[in-house]
Amino acid sequence: MDITKDELPDNENTEQEDPESRIIEFFEYKEGILKPNLTENLLVLFELTKIDKDLADIDEEKGDLPDKIENLKISIENAEKKLKENKNIIKTIEKEEKKLQKENKEIDEKTNKYDDQKYNVKNNKEYDEIMKSIDSLFEIEENNEKRLKEIHILKIDTETETIALEKSKEEFKAELTASENLLDELTKQYKDEEGELFERRKSKLAKLDEDLRNLYERINGSLRGEATAIVRRGNCSGCYNSVPPQREIEIKIAEEIFTCQSCGRILIDESLVSNK
Ligand SMILES: [Zn+2]
Repeated sequence: MDITKDELPDNENTEQEDPESRIIEFFEYKEGILKPNLTENLLVLFELTKIDKDLADIDEEKGDLPDKIENLKISIENAEKKLKENKNIIKTIEKEEKKLQKENKEIDEKTNKYDDQKYNVKNNKEYDEIMKSIDSLFEIEENNEKRLKEIHILKIDTETETIALEKSKEEFKAELTASENLLDELTKQYKDEEGELFERRKSKLAKLDEDLRNLYERINGSLRGEATAIVRRGNCSGCYNSVPPQREIEIKIAEEIFTCQSCGRILIDESLVSNK
């Protein structure tokens, strides 16, 4: 087995080999004929890529759920905290409303009394004092009315927000239950599928020699489930960069392993896997 040196992403194995001995490695002696064996290797790599893609997909589907569940729990907690705050705000407003209304009622009673008194005054001074008291009571009453209007608006806003928060909280709760159920289901469902994929992966890897196995694992480490790419109409299907025509022919002959100079994926000619 061999890997084209200058195609390796990290330029491993830079020393030159005897081209003859290098080629021999790819051939298997069968009934007196030297037969290339790399197509089979490339097909194994292609199958491995599909297996790893499935495994990556499973992880991706599950991987999102624990985070989502955690975030929903935080959202519910925040909504509950805000609802509690709003409840306290409304309680405080209602307490103040009652106090102000009571105060205004007392002011009305007092001013009525003053009104009666002002017709029975003995002198101007007494009259002026009554009028001064009435004015100051009116002023308090006016301020109270103004404050009542303000806190009424605040109460309405808080109540509106509370309704929206209750609705959001219920939605978060429903989504949390659904996500938790889904994660449980996926964990159960994928347990067998994952087990089977890992078994298949192991048996495929066993068909490769150590160098090719290491090359595949290294590329799969950074491009999980995408370690191989198809050469289609002169382009790498992984990154869409063009493959030089001479290289394309060599990839098709499949006597060596080539990786894409741009993305580092192992290149396989489309014709080798067109039925796969
Ligand atoms: Zn590429």
